[in-house]
Amino acid sequence: MSRVLVIGGGAAGMMSAIIAARNGHEVHLYEKNEKLGKKLFITGKGRCNVTNAGDMDTLFNSVTSNPKFLYSAFYSFTNEQVMDLFEELGVPLKVERGNRVFPVSDHSSDVISALNRELRRLGVKVNLHTEVKKVVAAGNDQGAEPGIVSENTDRNKEQTMPGFQKIILSNGTEITGDACIVATGGVSYVSTGSTGDGYRFAEETGHRVTKLMPSLVPMEVKEWYARKLQGLSLRNINAVIYDGKKKLYEEFGEMLFTHYGVSGPIIISASSKMGKKLQEKELRLRIDLKPALTSEQLDQRILRDFEENRNRQFKNAVDKLFPAKLKPIMLELSGISGEKKVNEISKEERLKFGMLIKNFEMTLTGLRGYNEAIITKGGVSVKDIDPGTMESKKVKGLYFIGEVLDLDALTGGFNLQIAWSTAAAAGNAV
Ligand SMILES: Cc1cc2nc3c(=O)[nH]c(=O)nc-3n(C[C@H](O)[C@H](O)[C@H](O)COP(=O)(O)OP(=O)(O)OC[C@H]3O[C@@H](n4cnc5c(N)ncnc54)[C@H](O)[C@@H]3O)c2cc1C
Repeated sequence: MSRVLVIGGGAAGMMSAIIAARNGHEVHLYEKNEKLGKKLFITGKGRCNVTNAGDMDTLFNSVTSNPKFLYSAFYSFTNEQVMDLFEELGVPLKVERGNRVFPVSDHSSDVISALNRELRRLGVKVNLHTEVKKVVAAGNDQGAEPGIVSENTDRNKEQTMPGFQKIILSNGTEITGDACIVATGGVSYVSTGSTGDGYRFAEETGHRVTKLMPSLVPMEVKEWYARKLQGLSLRNINAVIYDGKKKLYEEFGEMLFTHYGVSGPIIISASSKMGKKLQEKELRLRIDLKPALTSEQLDQRILRDFEENRNRQFKNAVDKLFPAKLKPIMLELSGISGEKKVNEISKEERLKFGMLIKNFEMTLTGLRGYNEAIITKGGVSVKDIDPGTMESKKVKGLYFIGEVLDLDALTGGFNLQIAWSTAAAAGNAV
């Protein structure tokens, strides 16, 4: 039986504590908040999209950073096993659109309560209001650089590799253990406790941390009209994001205008794929408001509307084409005077108007910040972590799991699956 210290009582930390305790270890969990699972509580708009019931290909294809690293972890603790575990813990689940799995109750609090109950049943020592300040590797308080080796053999590496020694709490208390699992999350939604401490622990013990950035996050738009559209939700549209002429991303679905720019499912997913590019330069967003119609079909449709309103003004002839909030913007961008009689509009003007409906464009200037980001991209480099066990390759007995690692996925339950699977890998290895 080992003495296992878990830092962070979020999704990953709670799960690893449960698995380690089920394996017979003495487990101590340290959480700086007054309760466990603060971020878990707000997941899935308070309903907690626990995992995704898709097949393995879907799981891997939905991971945006380092999917190959997750091969062993995903197969060792699958989405099916996650679902079975929650059902066993008394949380009946249901599968919704896109294979998203939620508690039948629609309450994330049920997921947290079930994990809490299991921690208690297993005798895990949960320490709330307890912030870990430092992780110390044996023989090197300042940072675990490998010792001097005469020859670069695996055996020498093994002999000289530092091992986990102790954690130091903010109040100065030092706690030793056989293993330490760092599950401190990322830096998004800081109010939930994710303040990025784990990145510091990693760096101070000799690990690489890749560049961090907000992901699954809304985007800012340059043009004045985006702000005017605040609150407007567009459904069944096609969005394409371009870097110059190069198409970077295309998706059909739903998006939303906000006071700073754009959000909603299409935009959030796009941020995961091309957010890095957007941090370097401005990109173009092109929205097709009528993707079900070809340009010719749309022109026929506009012609029909114009025929029905021959003697009316242009501004009174386009009501059926788009939502009311969009009308003044489209009229202005069309370059056609709203007062112009429909029967005076030239074919060229009409075709240009159709083009505008299929190519409503704006400039994306950047990503919103961490406090609006569902996930942090980047983190502890997976190159320094064993994918089978989540143990550090630099410090024996030190493990990193969940969002603190350089792993992230699209929305749909995949990020929590990463937390559960990496947690199980560590919980089974300690
Ligand atoms: C609004 C929102 C909605 C989301 N919805 C979903 C969803 O429906 N489905 C999905 O799959 N994913 C969702 N996610 C992502 C998901 O919440 C994360 O991927 C997941 O919570 C990561 O788990 P974690 O345990 O690694 O980190 P966290 O859940 O962030 O837990 C880290 C814990 O460590 C504690 N901690 C940090 N530093 C210290 C320290 N020094 N000492 C002690 N404790 C410390 C923190 O207080 C925190 O409790 C959502 C995220 C957000 C922000």
